[in-house]
Amino acid sequence: MPTVSAVLPASLETQLREAAARRGGSVDSVVNAALEAYLGGRDHRLYQISTSTALVEGVYAGAVSSATLLDHGDFGLGTFADLDGEMVIVDGAIYQCRADGSVTRRDDAQEVPFAVATRFHADTTFEVGPVASLAELERACDPHRESDNLFYALRIDGRFERVHARAVGATRAPARFVDVASQQTERRFADTEGTLVGFWSPVYASTFSVPGYHLHFLSRDRRQGGHVLDCRAASLRVELQLLHEYDVRLPDRGAFLTRDLSHDPASDLARTE
Ligand SMILES: [Zn+2]
Repeated sequence: MPTVSAVLPASLETQLREAAARRGGSVDSVVNAALEAYLGGRDHRLYQISTSTALVEGVYAGAVSSATLLDHGDFGLGTFADLDGEMVIVDGAIYQCRADGSVTRRDDAQEVPFAVATRFHADTTFEVGPVASLAELERACDPHRESDNLFYALRIDGRFERVHARAVGATRAPARFVDVASQQTERRFADTEGTLVGFWSPVYASTFSVPGYHLHFLSRDRRQGGHVLDCRAASLRVELQLLHEYDVRLPDRGAFLTRDLSHDPASDLARTE
């Protein structure tokens, strides 16, 4: 790759090095991310590690570094090695919502088994509410998607009267996802301000991605979170981003190479996701 040298004010250089340290990445990766955001090169690209089928079939080993993931997106969701909790990526930071109810920011280097991310940039913003359920929230968002055949990222902010969320627990056994999901911990958060982070994926992509809406929650104080099962709110602000480039990184080692991934995961995902 080419090398570019540039003259910067000392204050900007300090900010640049601090941003790299916060992300646990290199100065190069921050400059790349900033230039891409400024120049708009990846505004509509979805970056994904592994596939939903692999997750359902129990491929939970880390495949791609968290630094690489953040190089391709500042917003997204996923899970952790050995299925140790739900991942939420907001504003370039990775949060881990564990089955014990803890939420931890992860800025250490780690290998990620499954994640979906983008460099978030709203194409459309609108208000919805009141919504009495997740199904109602989804129906309120539907008319703002111009196609059922493209991907979308959604960032939904506001005060929630309640959020019903789950977090999967760590496993070292070669269990399939449905078995692990039966051990999941569910929590109900009341009157909490926060963000839903998620994606809408087409039905035809169901062997790669969770079809329809897939949302994770993170409270504003970063102390509550998980995979969203239901929610209720008086008023929410929705930001929607169209995604028409789909960049998938498949694991090149471990169980992914030998596991039978020929089954359609739709029925298992419907029960667990
Ligand atoms: Zn999830």
